[in-house]
Amino acid sequence: MTSDTQENRNDRVGLRSLSPSRASDFKRCPQLFKFSAIDRIPTPPTVYQARGTTAHLALERLFELPAEERTPERLSDLFRAAWQDLKPGEFADLFDDVAAERAWGIESLAILNNYFALEDPTQIEPLSRELDMTQTVGDMTIRGILDRMEETPKGLVITDYKSGKAPQERFAMSAFFGLKIYALLVRIREGRTPVALRLMYLTGPTVLEIPVDDGQLDAMERQLEALWNAIEKAIAVDRFPPRTGVLCDWCSYQDICPAFADDTGGGV
Ligand code: SF4
Repeated sequence: MTSDTQENRNDRVGLRSLSPSRASDFKRCPQLFKFSAIDRIPTPPTVYQARGTTAHLALERLFELPAEERTPERLSDLFRAAWQDLKPGEFADLFDDVAAERAWGIESLAILNNYFALEDPTQIEPLSRELDMTQTVGDMTIRGILDRMEETPKGLVITDYKSGKAPQERFAMSAFFGLKIYALLVRIREGRTPVALRLMYLTGPTVLEIPVDDGQLDAMERQLEALWNAIEKAIAVDRFPPRTGVLCDWCSYQDICPAFADDTGGGV
């Protein structure tokens, strides 16, 4: 009876599944989760999002080419083509003028070119790219896109591309939260546990890699269940307290966040 009621509540707020990034939002700040996952308040696209989305598409398409054609020149061409595909959608009004767009493009290509300092794509044949990972985990449906998975001599490795720079050391482990969820989804779907998780930061550039095992993924499954229970409780009582921290400076919702309205004495 209780679960029916909770299901109805979840349906009413439209929460049918959870993505790794939304799960991370709730961990970081329940109010942020409410703004993004429950209220679905859109945020204006940024030049950083445009760079990340375009770089992801270019890197996905790079592996459609024969190995010997995966060169810096071809990757730059793929970035330009990907931008022409993506720009008319959510990024149509991103730049004030052609000069600003051109400066962004030049900087983006320089960052993307760093990719070749991190690995040699002629030596890699991914098992999957941009894989839709919708999967049931206990009572939850987890939904997300896994950037890349490949077979290596040591086993399955999953990779996430980041167009920004690597976090400071104290935040490095928490940066793997989303990839651990993907590793859990891979284990459920494939019946195999990945052996390593890789975060590939193009600005820097830096690769962070950690080993992963069944014990860590069992712990992640329990953590996800606890997180889902906490989300359901928050929905039931409509309570999503803001949790301020250093990352508030990068939060798109700071202008409407009650925590900051209180600080300034202004309205929301
Ligand atoms: S500004 Fe900070 S406290 Fe407010 S929603 Fe964003 S992350 Fe949470």
